Amino acid sequence: MSITTEELSEIKQKNIYLIGSGWKPVSMIDVYNSVTFTLWLCGCNLKCPFCHNWMLAINHPSTCHYLDINKLIEELESARILIDYLHVTGGEPLTQHRELEKMLTIAKNNIGVNISINTNFTLHKPLKHLINTGIVDHLATDLKIPYDLLYGHSKEVADALWKLFLKSLTLVSEYSVPLELRIPIMKNIDIKVFRKHLAEALDKLDKHSNYYVIVQPLLGPPITNPRNPEWCKKYCDPDKHTLYIVKNELENMGVQKVIVRETLSFG
Ligand code: SF4
Repeated sequence: MSITTEELSEIKQKNIYLIGSGWKPVSMIDVYNSVTFTLWLCGCNLKCPFCHNWMLAINHPSTCHYLDINKLIEELESARILIDYLHVTGGEPLTQHRELEKMLTIAKNNIGVNISINTNFTLHKPLKHLINTGIVDHLATDLKIPYDLLYGHSKEVADALWKLFLKSLTLVSEYSVPLELRIPIMKNIDIKVFRKHLAEALDKLDKHSNYYVIVQPLLGPPITNPRNPEWCKKYCDPDKHTLYIVKNELENMGVQKVIVRETLSFG
């Protein structure tokens, strides 16, 4: 599939306004075992203290700007034969879901690429709408436990967000959308609390046959630049042993495919 001059001119007339920091035409570290064209969008409804993309999350003007959609489309088309997915991440991409849908529809229908979205799963309605359109081929999300500490909101708000997260897991399971479930591991986890929330989440995926889990550490400086360095001093950089304890927990709970990612790269 190749985009025609007429289609390009139609796309230009669509006036798509997306705010992001940019894109990388070929990346091998953003989705497990896949080559992606990765696009970073700005804005987020969570305030995770460990977030190392917080400049995007808060829409900081030094990082975030209106993207040149025509250039994006042209580069995506050039990269098409090299990639498995257009992977949209952030920030939280679904904070811009209306404009995003326009762009993803072009990417899917005119260019012919598969679509992957990394979302925090708390914007349930936009997620449901996008899945219903049939343009989503793959999803990635973080299972943040304990959510009341990791979402960066009050307990009351975090409880509500967690319910939406679980609802999104159920939805993805019903539609069998391939899922990369990432579990960021902090230092000194309370294994009882961890097990309880893990069980709640896995219960929603009980009938989902197409998901895998990535266990990865919450990394602090100097490897990352977290939103709250003081918080990170206390909770980031768990020892490797903790990652494997979690891997065992997952396997004992019946998860078929668990990958431990000790660093930022899939190496
Ligand atoms: S880690 Fe993700 S969900 Fe949390 S604030 Fe950052 S971009 Fe948002």
